[in-house]
Amino acid sequence: MNDLSTLAAVLPTDEDRDLLRQSVRGYLQAHGPSQSHREAWWDPEVSGRLWQGLAEQGLMTLGADPAEGGVREMVVVMEELGRAAVPIPFHGLAVTQLWAHGRLTASRGPSRPSTPWLNAECRLAIALDPQAIAWHRPPGDGPEVTLQGVLHGVEAAAAATDLLVVLPDQRLARLSLQGHGVTVTPSRAMGADGGYQVTCDAVRAEVLDATPEQATAAQRLTRLLLLARAHGAARRAFEMVVDYAKERCQFGQPIGRFQAIQHKLANAWMALEGVQRTLDHASAQIDLSAFDSAYAAWAAIAYGGSALRQVSLETHHAFGAIGYAEEHEAPRHFRRVHLDTLAFGGPASARAALASHLLDGEGHRLPEYDLGEAGNAFRQEVRVWLATHWSGERKAAFDAQPFHDREFDAAFAKDLGATGWIGLGWPQEHGGQARTPREQIAFMEVMEKAEAPRVGASVQANALMMYGTEAQRARYLPEILRGEAMHGMGYSEPQAGSDLAALKTSAVRVHDERGDGWVINGQKIWTTTWWGQYMFLAARTDPAAKPAHAGISMFIVPMSSPGITVKPSTTMYDGTFANIFYDDVWVPEDALVGPENGGWKVLMDALANERGSVGGGIVLKVAHAFELLCQDVRSQPGKSADLLVRDRLGQLAADIEVGRQLMMRCAMLAESGTTPPEMGAVSKVFSGELFERFGETALEVLGPQALLSQEAPGALRNGRYEQGLRHSLMWVISIGTNEIQRSLIAQRGLGLPR
Ligand SMILES: Cc1cc2nc3c(=O)[nH]c(=O)nc-3n(C[C@H](O)[C@H](O)[C@H](O)COP(=O)(O)OP(=O)(O)OC[C@H]3O[C@@H](n4cnc5c(N)ncnc54)[C@H](O)[C@@H]3O)c2cc1C
Repeated sequence: MNDLSTLAAVLPTDEDRDLLRQSVRGYLQAHGPSQSHREAWWDPEVSGRLWQGLAEQGLMTLGADPAEGGVREMVVVMEELGRAAVPIPFHGLAVTQLWAHGRLTASRGPSRPSTPWLNAECRLAIALDPQAIAWHRPPGDGPEVTLQGVLHGVEAAAAATDLLVVLPDQRLARLSLQGHGVTVTPSRAMGADGGYQVTCDAVRAEVLDATPEQATAAQRLTRLLLLARAHGAARRAFEMVVDYAKERCQFGQPIGRFQAIQHKLANAWMALEGVQRTLDHASAQIDLSAFDSAYAAWAAIAYGGSALRQVSLETHHAFGAIGYAEEHEAPRHFRRVHLDTLAFGGPASARAALASHLLDGEGHRLPEYDLGEAGNAFRQEVRVWLATHWSGERKAAFDAQPFHDREFDAAFAKDLGATGWIGLGWPQEHGGQARTPREQIAFMEVMEKAEAPRVGASVQANALMMYGTEAQRARYLPEILRGEAMHGMGYSEPQAGSDLAALKTSAVRVHDERGDGWVINGQKIWTTTWWGQYMFLAARTDPAAKPAHAGISMFIVPMSSPGITVKPSTTMYDGTFANIFYDDVWVPEDALVGPENGGWKVLMDALANERGSVGGGIVLKVAHAFELLCQDVRSQPGKSADLLVRDRLGQLAADIEVGRQLMMRCAMLAESGTTPPEMGAVSKVFSGELFERFGETALEVLGPQALLSQEAPGALRNGRYEQGLRHSLMWVISIGTNEIQRSLIAQRGLGLPR
C-alpha cells in the first residue's frame, strides 16, 4: 500500500459520516430553538448552550485525530448547522484543531500538545479581515502582539470565549474576548442579529506558531467550511420549496407542474449537485493530503459562492410571498447563504486564486483526476499508444483538412480497432474488455487531449447486445469492434424532433419475390453519420398504436439499399448532417432489432447506457480547449495580467471542476449499478451549457483574431475557438434538448408532477 491508501484506510467511511450527520441533526432538532421562535436564534445564551452541547458530543475535537475525523466530517457538521440555521462558528475551532495537530497542510506540521486555551471550554469565534486591525510587537521576544482597531461581522462573539484573527501580515493570532481592552457590540448584517463588532484597544494577542502556508490554508479551509454551512442552508430551503411546489395549487394545479417552476428548480438542483460534488471532492483531497487540494478548494468556493446565492433567489421566487414573511424559515437560510458565501473575499477572490494557479509562473494545467489504479494505468497506456498512432505527420495531415472531412479517419479507426478499445465497456461475452466507467473516462480524456477522431457506434452496439439475435450480434458487432463499420442514427423527422414518438416513417411487413422482409418509406432529417455503412432506424410499424410510441420498431438498414436518397447539408459547425429519403426500401426480416412494436424500449435502453457519459465527453472537450486557452492567454502578458480576463478564466476553471465532478459522479454511480437518468441529464445539461460559455468567453478574452476561421490568414489555432463556439450549440440541442432534460430532472429527480 502507498501512503495515500494507508491513510485512506484509517479515515472514517461514508457510513460513519451518515451516522455523524444523523447524530448532529438529531441533536440540533432536539435542542435548537423552534423555527417559530425567531429571536432565540441569535440569543447568546442559546448559542452558548448549544455550543456547549455540541462540545459534549465530542465535535469540538474533530481534527485532532485522523481516525476520528477530518475535513469531510467538519463539512457534515457545518452543513447541519446551516440546515438548522444555528449561528455557531464551529469552523474557527475546527481549523485551529487542525493547526494544533499539524494537519493544516499537506506537508504536515509539528503537533502542539501544549495549547492550554484549546480546551473543552474554548468557544472560538473567528475574524478573517486583516485590513481592519493594526498590531505592534510589545518589548521582548515573546509570541505576543498588541492589537488596535475594529473587527466587523464577528459571528457569535458574545457567546465566544476566544477570537482567532488574521493579522495584516497574514499571521494568525488568538485573543481572549474577556480580556482587557476588548469591547463586543451587536452589529446587524444582512438584516439579522448574530454578528458583532469587536473593538480592540491595546489588546494583547498570542501569535500562533503557523507558517505563512499554514495561515493561508487556515483561511482557505475556513471559507470551504463556510461554504458547507451555506450549502446546508440553501439545500434545506430548496427541499422545502420542492415540497411546497407539490402542494401549492394555482390555476387548478400544483405549481410544480408549471414548466417555469420545474426548470427553475431543476437549475437549482443542478447547482446544488455541483456544490455538493466539488465540496466533497475538495474535502476528500484535503483529508488525503493530495497535492492539488488547494485548487479543489478554491474551485468549490468560487463555484458555490455564486451558485448558492442564485439557488436562494430561485427558491424564493418559487415560494412566492409565503417565503417572504419573516415567520417563514426561508429568509433565515437566505441570509445564511449570503453571509457565508460573501465573507472574507467572496467568490471573486477564489476565482483570482484559480487564475493565479493557471496563469502565473510556469503556468499549470488542470489537476489530473485519480481514476483508480486501473484507470490511471490505462490512461498511461492509451497515451503511449496515441503517441505512436496519432501524432506527427499523420495528425498534421488530418488537421490540415477542412473540418467536414475531419469527422472520421477510416485508417485510424482500424488501427484503434486492433487494440480492442472500441469495445472498452462492452461485456467480454461480446468481445469487449468490460472496463470500468473510470477506465472509459481515462480513454475519453486521453483521446480528447490527443485530438483523435471519433470512432465506434456505441448506442447501436448497446442495442444489439441487449436486444439483437445471436445472428445479428455475430454479424454486426465484430465489424464495429474492428473499426470497420459505422452506424448512423435515423430518429428525427421533420415533424418529430423532441417528440420522437410522433415519427411517421413506416415499415410494413412484406412477403414477396424479394423474400420475407420490411418495406420502409419516409424521411429522416439531421442524420449525422449518414456516410456510415448502416442506419439504426426508428420506424412506425403500428400506425394505430396508442400511445404512439407503442407502435415503433427499430431496424438496421444497410445504406447501400436501393431506394435511399441522401441529401447532405452543412451544419453550423462546418460538419455535415443529411436529409435522408427512404422510398420503398426493402430490408430482410432480420433487420428488425428487438420486438416488433417494442422499439421504444430498445431505443431508450440503448441510450440509457450512454447517458451517464455524454456530459463527461463534453466536459473533457471543454477542459482540453480551456488548457489551450490558458496557454494562449499566458503567451500575451497584457492579457494574462488583465484582472477581468483573470476573473473570467477563474470562473471557467471553477465550472470545469463542477462538470468534471458531475462526470465522476455518473461514473461512480455506474460502477455501483446504473446512473439514474436524472444524474446523466444534470451532467449533460451542465456541460453542454458550459461548452457554450467557454466558447463565448474565449472569443471575448482573445479578441478579433479568435474570430478568424480555419485557413484564414492569422487565424488563432486555425480557427478552433470560433469553430468551438459554433460546435457547442449542438450539445445543447441534440441527444435530448436541454429543456427536455430539465423537465426530466424536475420530474424524475425531484418528483414534480408531469
Ligand atoms: C448537429 C446535430 C446533429 C444531430 N444528429 C442527429 C442524428 O444523427 N440523428 C437524429 O435522429 N437526429 C439528430 N439530430 C436531431 C436532434 O435529435 C434534434 O434536433 C432534437 O431531438 C430536437 O429536435 P428539434 O430540433 O426538432 O427541436 P424541437 O423539438 O422542435 O424543439 C425546438 C425547441 O422547443 C423546445 N421544446 C420542444 N418540446 C418541448 C417540451 N416538451 N418542453 C419544453 N421545451 C420543448 C426544445 O427544447 C427546443 O428548444 C441532430 C441535431 C443536431 C443539431
